[in-house]
Amino acid sequence: MGPVRYRNKNAPTTIMSSTDAPNVASTWSGPLGPPLAIPAVADVVIIGGGIVGVSTLWFLAKAGIRAVLCEKGHIAGEQSGRNWGWVRVQGRDTREIPMMQESLRIWDALEDEIGEDVGFRRGGCYFTANSEKQLEEHAAWLETAEHYGIGTRLLSADELGQHISGSAANWAGALYTATDGRAEPQKAAPAIARAAARSGATVLTSCAVRGIETSGGKVSAVVTEHGRIKTAVVLCAAGAWTSLFCGSLGINVPQLRVRGTVARTAPANRLLNGNVFDDRLGIRRREDGGYSIAHGSILEHLVTPASFRHFVRFIPALKKEFRILRLSFGREFIDEWRTPRRWSLDEPSPFEKTRVLDPQPNKRVLKAIRRNLDSLFPPLANTPIVESWAGTIESSPDVVPIIDEIDTIPGFYVATGFSGHGFGIGPGAGKAIAGMLTGKGSGIDISPLRLSRFFDGSPIRLQSSI
Ligand SMILES: Cc1cc2nc3c(=O)[nH]c(=O)nc-3n(C[C@H](O)[C@H](O)[C@H](O)COP(=O)(O)OP(=O)(O)OC[C@H]3O[C@@H](n4cnc5c(N)ncnc54)[C@H](O)[C@@H]3O)c2cc1C
Repeated sequence: MGPVRYRNKNAPTTIMSSTDAPNVASTWSGPLGPPLAIPAVADVVIIGGGIVGVSTLWFLAKAGIRAVLCEKGHIAGEQSGRNWGWVRVQGRDTREIPMMQESLRIWDALEDEIGEDVGFRRGGCYFTANSEKQLEEHAAWLETAEHYGIGTRLLSADELGQHISGSAANWAGALYTATDGRAEPQKAAPAIARAAARSGATVLTSCAVRGIETSGGKVSAVVTEHGRIKTAVVLCAAGAWTSLFCGSLGINVPQLRVRGTVARTAPANRLLNGNVFDDRLGIRRREDGGYSIAHGSILEHLVTPASFRHFVRFIPALKKEFRILRLSFGREFIDEWRTPRRWSLDEPSPFEKTRVLDPQPNKRVLKAIRRNLDSLFPPLANTPIVESWAGTIESSPDVVPIIDEIDTIPGFYVATGFSGHGFGIGPGAGKAIAGMLTGKGSGIDISPLRLSRFFDGSPIRLQSSI
C-alpha cells in the first residue's frame, strides 16, 4: 500500500453527526486550503472529484497506474454530495444497464474492500402508480428487466401496503426491484477518494485545472492553478463544468443544467426501507434514521446562453420532460454571459472563481415537498425537516453519459452527462473508464456512449428521464 497523499492542509476531517447540524452541507462548506505540493508528472490526470472521477482514480490506483485527481473545491462538493442517494437499475436506459449491474456488484463489496462505511443497503426501489393506467405504463419496463435478468416485478396495492406503512396514498401498485439500493452521498465519494489515496493515488483539492498543453497535437500536460503536471492522458470528469472546459479546447459537448431541491428529515419511525418514487414525492430511508425527500415532478432549468446554443439537440428531452421542467430566468443567465469561454492558462480561470457550485434550494419547492410528505405520510407530519439544499444536475441531450476519447486531441478523454442518475452508476462507470484509459477494457460496452452520437446524424432518443 502506498503513502496516503490526500493533501489539503485545511480540509475538514469530521462530518458533524448531530441530526440538525448541517451534516449534508459539511461536504461542501468546509474551509479550503491549497494542496501542500503537486506532483510534476503522472500517468493519468483526472479533472473532477465527483463519484465518477474518484471511482476512476480508485480503479487506476488498484491497477498500479500513477494517477492524480485535481478537484477545484471539495471532493463530492457538487452533484455527488447533494443527490438523493438512490442506487438503482430500475427504469434505466438500456445503454446504461450492464454498467449499472456491474456498479451494484461493486457497491456490494465496496465497504469490505475499502474498510469504510458508505451507507450502501439493498432496500429496493419502488415506482408507485396512482392509477391503473400508470401501473400499465410502469409495466412496460418489465420486458427490459427480463432481458437483462433483473428481478423487477409489479406489486399490487395490497402487496405494496406490506412493504410501506403509514401511507395515505391510494396507490394502484408499484414497479419494484428488490435488489436496488441506496448509499449515503456525503460518505461515498470521499471514502472512495481516501481508498484511492491509500492505494497510491494523489488527490488534490482546491486545485482547479485551467487547461491542457499539447505536443505534436497530443496531450502533454495539465495546467493547474498551482502549476503544471506532465501527463499523456487526461480525463475530464468535471460534471456541470465539462462543457465549458471542453469548449475552451474547441470541443463541443452539449450539456444543460437543471436545479434539484432536496431536504432531509430528523430521524423518525421506519415506514419504508427503500427508495419510493411517486409523482409528488421522492423519498428514501437514510442511514441516520431520517428520510431524504424531494419533489417527484419538479426540476428547474436555469436558462442561460447555453440553453440557446444547445437548444436543437435538447428538443427531445424538453418534449419528454415538459411536464416536470420549470424554466427559471435569473442571475445564472448573466453569470454565464459574463463567463469567458477562453482564458489564458497563467491567469485565474472560471473554475477558481466558482470553487463550489452551490445553488440555493427553491423555497416554493420546499413548501410543496413538506405538503406532499405530510399528505402522503401522515405519521411523518410532525417530523421536522432539519436541512435543505440544492444541486445542479448536468444532462446530455439523451440523458445518458458521454464516455469517450476525443479524436482531435489524442490522450484527452471525457466522462460526463450522467444526468440525474450518475451517483448509483458511478463505481461501474469508474471501472469502465479506467479500462478505457488503460486500453485494457473492462468488459462493459461503452461504445453507445460515444460523443459523436450527437453529431453524426444518429437519432437522439430518450428511454428514461433526467
Ligand atoms: C438533486 C440531485 C439528485 C440526484 N439524485 C440522484 C440519485 O438519487 N441517484 C443517482 O444515481 N444520481 C443522482 N443524481 C445525479 C448524480 O449526483 C450525478 O449524476 C453524479 O454525482 C455526477 O458525478 P460526476 O462525478 O460526474 O460530477 P460531480 O459530482 O458534479 O463532480 C464534478 C467535479 O468536478 C469539479 N471540477 C469541475 N471543473 C473542474 C476543474 N476545471 N478543475 C478541477 N475540478 C473541477 C467540480 O468541482 C465537481 O466537484 C442527482 C443529482 C442531484 C443534483
